[in-house]
Amino acid sequence: MDTDLLTLVEHLRQEFESKTQRWISKNQEEGLLDAVFCRRGCVHCCTFAVQTTLLEAFPIAAQVTPEVAALLEKRVERLVELAESALDVDDFDERHRREPGLCVFLNAAGACSIYEIRPFGCRQTISTLPAQFCAPGVPVGLTDSEAETYQAFLDFSPISNGEHHFAASIMDWGSTCSDILLELMQQNWGFSIEGELTVLVFLLLDADFQTAWTHRDISGLKQWVRYKGVGHPFLFTLETGD
Ligand code: SF4
Repeated sequence: MDTDLLTLVEHLRQEFESKTQRWISKNQEEGLLDAVFCRRGCVHCCTFAVQTTLLEAFPIAAQVTPEVAALLEKRVERLVELAESALDVDDFDERHRREPGLCVFLNAAGACSIYEIRPFGCRQTISTLPAQFCAPGVPVGLTDSEAETYQAFLDFSPISNGEHHFAASIMDWGSTCSDILLELMQQNWGFSIEGELTVLVFLLLDADFQTAWTHRDISGLKQWVRYKGVGHPFLFTLETGD
């Protein structure tokens, strides 16, 4: 793997973290944010389908233990079934929060085992309300008073985008960082790959996928992804520059 590209990914992560800290401090000082409620052991957001770029998946794949590799294989099987049976991407995202279980990178203590190198898709999810508001299905399951608090936040808080209680600006920066990485891949390889986190890591553990990537063999990559059964667009996307 090109170490210059990985260094750029690391710089982008650091920049993202500094910008996030500045955003938190500024909004706390201005009274717009009580606190960031994300804590070790609070795992609600680790039920989301995490969209990831291949550049972010490389260092993660390098850290996978045999135990996690076994979990990945089973998880990918479930995700393929889910993608194939989902009505649309919203149905896939919603069922992903309930059906396949928690992320395979959570350790027994409920902490992210790849925290330092977790993708932007995870970094950008910063809760501005307490944990109960992050549970799958919210606002279903909230008490009447919690539901009122939630709706008032969505309707009136300047740090909300009106759709959810995760810090909207930080989510936008995360998307921008992902776009930068997709562009870097296009410039350096002539194609870009993104997809569901566990699917990309699963593919990178495969020697044939690695060989096709090393040779920048686009048709070989596509063929291998189809052969592995993970080519569904909710799970894997390869874009060429043309
Ligand atoms: S990679 Fe880490 S932060 Fe992201 S969903 Fe998995 S356990 Fe949670």
